[in-house]
Amino acid sequence: MKKCDLCGLDVEVDGFQLETTEGTKLFCCEGCLSVYRLLNGDKIKD
Ligand SMILES: [Zn+2]
Repeated sequence: MKKCDLCGLDVEVDGFQLETTEGTKLFCCEGCLSVYRLLNGDKIKD
């Protein structure tokens, strides 16, 4: 199973993902996605 790119927990729900300059990042929840976005704003594609 895919692991969350922030906290390392199993990703059980699809949909929390971001396209970045390093590829697609998957997260376990909205919280992890938000924290990653805050910490890596320069890598996010939109
Ligand atoms: Zn997580």
